[in-house]
Amino acid sequence: MYISDMKQILILGGGGFIGGHLGKRLKEEGSWVRIVDVKAQHDFWDHDKICDEYISGDLRDPSLVASIMSAPGQADGEKDSSFDEVYQLAADMGGAGYIFTGENDANVMHNSALINLNVAHEASLKGVKRIFYSSSACIYPEHNQLDPDNPNCEESSAYPADPDSEYGWEKLFSERLFLAFKRNYNLDVRVARFHNIFGPMGTWTGGKEKAPAAMCRKVAEAGISENVEVWGDGKQTRSFLYIDDCLDAVLRFVRQDDFMGPVNIGSEEMVSINQLAQMAIDISGKSVGIQNLEGAAFEAKYGFKCPIGVRGRRSDNKLYAAKMGWAPSEPLRVGMQKTYEWIAQKVEASALHA
Ligand code: NAD
Repeated sequence: MYISDMKQILILGGGGFIGGHLGKRLKEEGSWVRIVDVKAQHDFWDHDKICDEYISGDLRDPSLVASIMSAPGQADGEKDSSFDEVYQLAADMGGAGYIFTGENDANVMHNSALINLNVAHEASLKGVKRIFYSSSACIYPEHNQLDPDNPNCEESSAYPADPDSEYGWEKLFSERLFLAFKRNYNLDVRVARFHNIFGPMGTWTGGKEKAPAAMCRKVAEAGISENVEVWGDGKQTRSFLYIDDCLDAVLRFVRQDDFMGPVNIGSEEMVSINQLAQMAIDISGKSVGIQNLEGAAFEAKYGFKCPIGVRGRRSDNKLYAAKMGWAPSEPLRVGMQKTYEWIAQKVEASALHA
């Protein structure tokens, strides 16, 4: 079958966590998938599972972006064609230890803004048929997230803007960038704000991992009767969405014609970070405790202020449900179980190789 007879899809940042899972799903549905990522290869997947073509390249480079934005024609004399769907997931990002310490602010803003500027421009020039942009819950103003039991993350609460991190400001800028390309150049965009997506085959160590992976790793590494360290007082709340639910939500959103967002994609099941840690402990069956580390003790150990972010954050799914007639529903515990099992295997394997 010619490539041009299949749905042609480009995943930018497909060497990462969400992009790898998305590539696998789209390949399984019979699409032709190109991944572009600055990494030489995906950390966990073999490329033939997640794409038909993997290009290692830096999307901050405009000439690279120009060279990858058209799908290759295959029949004799056939010209390159526009992608049916482009997923722009590439970003300089990580967990709290990366985006909330302040130490990476310039890189986070500069790198991600360059990527998005290049991508929006080239997507518009090359006439891609639809482009998805992954924004973040981090765009929401800090003052609506001071109460851990009652945060407000309704889409309409984004303005007046006051994100608590430069990562959030860059995401807000890039949301506006893609929407401006829609207004002025009719680029067909879909903008979603992800709220803590988690699952296997994602970063689980090294400082860029998110809370669910960090908790699973710490519990898996803990010896009997040891304590698992949790940053902050552990009462800060969040909601977490399992990767399979995230992909369902993204694909429903991208493949409808009436609504371009921005819209939240997340879970409404809210837990404190200590509850999340306890969940990982319960799943492991281990007899370990929780030790909260904050303030001066934290600074003395790590040399920077405890980067815990806002007090409370939870996805508000009313808009998504109203527009799409669907909401994610898998309980957090089910996703945590799958994630713990995968990370426990990684911990065991790395201990064997140590
Ligand atoms: P990830 O870090 O696993 O994936 C991002 C990928 O972008 C990485 O593979 C990285 O190598 C690539 N990348 C970075 N700079 C690049 C460059 N200059 N050129 C080419 N590739 C580059 O992150 P993820 O969890 O898969 O998240 C995907 C997107 O969703 C990101 O834009 C992120 O900001 C957004 N998001 C994710 C979450 C979450 O909980 N995972 C929450 C909110 C928003």
